[in-house]
Amino acid sequence: MTDCIFCKIINQEIPSYKVYEDDKVYAFLDITQVTKGHTLLVPKEHVTDIFEYEPALAGEVFARVPKVARALEKAFPEMQGLNIINNNKELAYQSVFHSHIHLIPRYGESDDFSIHFGNNQAAYSSESMQEIAEKIMKQVEQ
Ligand code: 5GP
Ligand code: ZN
Repeated sequence: MTDCIFCKIINQEIPSYKVYEDDKVYAFLDITQVTKGHTLLVPKEHVTDIFEYEPALAGEVFARVPKVARALEKAFPEMQGLNIINNNKELAYQSVFHSHIHLIPRYGESDDFSIHFGNNQAAYSSESMQEIAEKIMKQVEQ
């Protein structure tokens, strides 16, 4: 896609700090370095977000996640954890509309990173949980 910053990075039209490349994916340092080694893994094929993936491409991209994760772990033995994040659409904090997976190494509690999981369990009865599950299940592609 001509007007996509990540396509330009993949095509070497814009410089990047490359971490890994093969025929399917390109991985490079996120410019903001939320933590040291913060890496973006992107499919070479332009897909906007998770909703656009064909199963084969999804398999190819997600199969590379552990490869990059292990490289980070070996490169930074002081690493104590890793957050893997994939934002989809603006409300969910996607700002570049070429799908990408963030790998954010974690070194300690003072990392410049946070994530909040609320707990709304009390607001959902077992009946409504069952209803929600069935609603989703009906829509899963066969
Ligand atoms: P999103 O907010 O879409 O999940 O993540 C997009 C990420 O792309 C951001 O973390 C941002 O720092 C990174 N980013 C945006 N433009 C560039 C760029 O030109 N080069 C690099 N290396 N990262 C970028
Ligand atoms: Zn693109």
